[in-house]
Amino acid sequence: MNILVLNAGSSSIKYSLFDMADQSVLLTGIIERIGESLAVHRYRLADEQPNSAEKIINNHQQALQDLFCVLSATGAGQPACIGHRVVHGGEFFREPALITADVTQQIASVIPLAPLHNPANLLGIQEALRLMGDIPQVAVFDTAFHHSLPDYAYRYALPNTLYKDQGVRRYGFHGTSHHYVAKQAAQFLGKALTALNMITLHLGNGASITAIENGRSIDTSMGMTPLEGLMMGTRCGDIDPALHFYLSRTLGLSLDEIENLLNKSSGCKGICGENDMRGIHRMAESGDETARLALAMYAYRIKKYIGAYVAVLGRIDALVFTGGIGENDAWLRQQCCAGLSVLGIVIDSEQNLAANRPCARISPADSPVQVLVIGTQEELEIAIQAQACIQQQVSG
Ligand code: ADP
Repeated sequence: MNILVLNAGSSSIKYSLFDMADQSVLLTGIIERIGESLAVHRYRLADEQPNSAEKIINNHQQALQDLFCVLSATGAGQPACIGHRVVHGGEFFREPALITADVTQQIASVIPLAPLHNPANLLGIQEALRLMGDIPQVAVFDTAFHHSLPDYAYRYALPNTLYKDQGVRRYGFHGTSHHYVAKQAAQFLGKALTALNMITLHLGNGASITAIENGRSIDTSMGMTPLEGLMMGTRCGDIDPALHFYLSRTLGLSLDEIENLLNKSSGCKGICGENDMRGIHRMAESGDETARLALAMYAYRIKKYIGAYVAVLGRIDALVFTGGIGENDAWLRQQCCAGLSVLGIVIDSEQNLAANRPCARISPADSPVQVLVIGTQEELEIAIQAQACIQQQVSG
């Protein structure tokens, strides 16, 4: 069975086609700058050179038409199912959902909670239904893995009505990635996921950390939106909420300006003007003091969360690094774990430098906490969950 995974953003669509018989990638691609004067469609078939074409693509409908042309031209054919990444599932969705009119409506009703992400995800779904409504389509939610958070972890200390009437609570994100690497870690360690406590760190452009108890997420650093928690490439992470009033009163910033500031010009970018971790390292190596500070803050905040989540879990079997930074940045992994031997967390420097995907241990083998580096595969996890969802429907 071939499954197409779509990740629709406001001006881009990323996609991957999997052969689920062996979970291999048949085709990956991205269509960017949709709606601009010239869009670009890049794709790559397994074992072939990448292709790239600039063309006029005015909207998501035309983008998907172009993608389906590539599917037939390459002989990949029509997929048996489409899995859609949806960022926010609110309280409706605790697991993947076969897309129906009701499901589309519920995803639309969550838009106020995720105005920066859900509208584009929904547009991708609507256009795919229009073009390929005859094949089953499944929505897979970034929030779903965190549905197991207890109320004392997901509630904010705010008036009850804000939770009951407006859905104001912590939801958590990157769930597909945290779930995937937790399952891979269990496999690597030869233990059942349900028998393991672990802390998973997804460090990419966005970053989050999750406390997993017996295979279930019980706390995570992102909140009602992906802005809360760790310091990120351009997002501030945890901050004093009173800052908003201060910025409004002293600088006269509007809510939109504050939202933009905290999401797009803060985090590493705010501190040193660069959000790409490789660039930050280059700056620090050439003596840039702001880059040194950004790296120190980034690692310090992760370390604080690790300490908090060890306290929450009581015992941890594994600490897992993933995401572009978690998988590649040995220096940062070392910094985050430095001085944590008291918690059983120790890194072997040589193994840390040599760590290779898809899965590597970077702690001594007999260490009480197995520190692992695992390559995340969010698209594959979406395909796996979409397949399980349609098989469940068939078996009734
Ligand atoms: P996204 O969250 O958009 O999926 P990624 O998971 O690909 O992003 O992570 C992007 C981040 O990973 C960038 O900050 C990039 O600099 C960082 N990164 C990629 N390769 C390396 C590397 N070799 N060393 C340090 N950071 C890296």
